[in-house]
Amino acid sequence: MREEKEKRKGWPEKTAAKAGKACFRLLFPEGIYCISCGRPILPAWEDSLCPDCRKVIFENRGGRCPRCGRPMEGWKSHGLCPDCRHCFPLYSRGKTCCVYKGRVKGILYDFKYGGKAFLARPLAFLMAEEGFDPAAYDLILPVPMAKAKMRRRGYNQAALLGRELGRLTGRPCEEDILIRNRETVPMSGLSREERRENLKGAICVTKPRALLGKRVLLVDDIYTTGATMGACSQAVLSAGAKEVFALTFAMASPEKGIF
Ligand SMILES: [Zn+2]
Ligand SMILES: [Zn+2]
Repeated sequence: MREEKEKRKGWPEKTAAKAGKACFRLLFPEGIYCISCGRPILPAWEDSLCPDCRKVIFENRGGRCPRCGRPMEGWKSHGLCPDCRHCFPLYSRGKTCCVYKGRVKGILYDFKYGGKAFLARPLAFLMAEEGFDPAAYDLILPVPMAKAKMRRRGYNQAALLGRELGRLTGRPCEEDILIRNRETVPMSGLSREERRENLKGAICVTKPRALLGKRVLLVDDIYTTGATMGACSQAVLSAGAKEVFALTFAMASPEKGIF
């Protein structure tokens, strides 16, 4: 009799635990499979990447540019990368997680064009690991997207990353301070000058007072030549911000012909 009672008592608890796990999987689908290769992830790994992908993505990144943080495979010098040498960045320092190639390209493609907005959480987690001490900045500003483009895509991937990063670091993420008031043509294939021309006047600050004397962290998914980050830094500093830092998930390697 007592056993039966205990059985009955155990049943709803077990069901609740199962339901809890199912809810967890619904809420955190990225925690079940590797976000790059799709292999199931053991809970003990506590990561969104399987050990193999983590190794490929994060190892052998080579040296880093001391200013923009660009990983440079095979880079022997400790000097600035070709891009920073050509145009010294306005932000104080940049950091990135990995090189934009191979598996990383696949992850970012899924995130931007594959509708996998939920990837923002694991990507922001990796960015927080790699990024700046939250004590170094007062607020997070995502690199803005034009309204029309956002309507087409459904979300601004930089804003999703900024939001998740804000949640992880406790710093506010402001999405309506820095805006892109018109669509710009895709940057790939454009020369450095054409990129600058393309962005001229496209990025504005709506509430300069909110930036007065503030230290700002600019967040984006990918950094190529730095033209977009440069235009955002200029807008933010002109509005009165004290200092700007730049954090991206991936950076193009200077050897890959983007320059
Ligand atoms: Zn994997
Ligand atoms: Zn650099």
